[in-house]
Amino acid sequence: MYGQGILKGLGVTFKHFFATYVEDIRHVGGKLSSNDKFARRQGVDAMGLYTVQYPEEKIATPERFRFLPFLIVNDDDHPTAPGEIWCTSCGICPKVCPPQCIWILRSEDPVTKRPVPKPQSFFIDMDICMNCGYCMEFCPFDAIKMDHDYEQASSDRTQNHIFNMEKLSKPFAYWRQIAPTTAWEEAVERGGWEHIDVVKEKKKAGQPVAQPGAKWDDPYVPPIVEKPEEPAPAAEAAPAGEAIADAPAPAAAEAVSDADAERAARKAKREAALAKKHAREQDGGEG
Ligand code: SF4
Ligand code: SF4
Repeated sequence: MYGQGILKGLGVTFKHFFATYVEDIRHVGGKLSSNDKFARRQGVDAMGLYTVQYPEEKIATPERFRFLPFLIVNDDDHPTAPGEIWCTSCGICPKVCPPQCIWILRSEDPVTKRPVPKPQSFFIDMDICMNCGYCMEFCPFDAIKMDHDYEQASSDRTQNHIFNMEKLSKPFAYWRQIAPTTAWEEAVERGGWEHIDVVKEKKKAGQPVAQPGAKWDDPYVPPIVEKPEEPAPAAEAAPAGEAIADAPAPAAAEAVSDADAERAARKAKREAALAKKHAREQDGGEG
């Protein structure tokens, strides 16, 4: 029958339209944009449509949300190479990037002039990037990932959106915060956070590697590397005021416990999501 498809489509639209009011009544008095409600509205039980008053209200991004690429560097507490960039300047990502918006210059040894596996410069033109994620998929060193940060509006059309290495670099700890649930499953499977090739190379060189079987939300414990002992600095009698200043401030201690609570909440959320996913898979992928 002619027009059947149109009627079906209209039926779906009206169903969502009315479901929005049903959902509003259900949450009357509460903010639909709060993070827990947002998680519900993004889940399989979600009904209807809703808007938020951006930028006053912001909703959490779903874990699978991906926007612009960024480069991973070691955390500041890394024992041997804090802040070291993971990129080896292999040149694969600029080759696979469909709109060709990545530009890399490899470092070279200042004496021998031989290439060093590290970028000297790394630029991405974010106005051209189409957020496809190919660079991340093809990087053999897991050195480039897709970010959640979508607030990149700027009045400048020439420079601000050409990100250099400094602007692109973010610590590994940041990636762990935004990584999808399946990322830690994969990390546990392959026996550590680092790329399998890096683990192999380290093992070959007799260097310690990240602990196999570690959990994604475990605090990152970098392998212990013995450092030569440094002579202790001469003890200076510090004034009483300075000693107090060195002690952790109560606000800082609170921030740490807040961070722990947040991490535990994220872990619980991930585990719940995983359990849900497995249940769906067992039900034959429905839902
Ligand atoms: S996300 Fe796609 S378009 Fe953007 S830099 Fe990576 S490969 Fe290029
Ligand atoms: S593919 Fe990875 S390692 Fe190679 S240049 Fe790109 S970010 Fe660096």
